[in-house]
Amino acid sequence: MKNAPALPIEVDSETGVWQTDGLPMLYVPRHFFVNNHDMVEEAMGKEEYAKILYVAGHKSAHHWCEHESKQHELKGMDVFSHYLQRLSLRGWGLFSFLSDDIKNLPLSIRLDHSAFVLNARKFPNKSKEGELLCHMFAGWFAGATDWVAQNEGLEDGFVCSETQCANVCANVCANVSDNGAGNKGGKDFCLYEVKYK
Ligand SMILES: [Zn+2]
Repeated sequence: MKNAPALPIEVDSETGVWQTDGLPMLYVPRHFFVNNHDMVEEAMGKEEYAKILYVAGHKSAHHWCEHESKQHELKGMDVFSHYLQRLSLRGWGLFSFLSDDIKNLPLSIRLDHSAFVLNARKFPNKSKEGELLCHMFAGWFAGATDWVAQNEGLEDGFVCSETQCANVCANVCANVSDNGAGNKGGKDFCLYEVKYK
């Protein structure tokens, strides 16, 4: 079944700018975004690029949480849940908490249908086989967790990494059920862990 977008989108009739909750947004083809991502990664080296993306993502997530907490009068982990919901509604993949107790770490986030994995399946690239592809989201989750910690008066300084990627089993589990049963060791979803440095 195909649905219309389930989040508010406004388009300014004079400027053409798209907005959701007063935040300007860009609507771009997935392949365009991932091609840019891949080319920068190739030019800089994955490790170096991942470091920069992490810092930028951390900052942006923090800004987003601050804005949305005011916009919707949300606090603490409700803001993070809202974040995962909105990311899911914007086509990055379907995000859900497996563990969301900030006082009982690690936090654990599951990502199904990651945009990076789906794009890699549509445009297979030998050099990416077996790689964790979705590191871009790690900085976002560290930033959101730091925001929650500051909002709740807890110690901040969280780190996040993708610990499992559906791309690792792209060739063997494209058709398996969502619990990953039947594939050779990999699971057909990505996982992130958030903990203290
Ligand atoms: Zn992944």
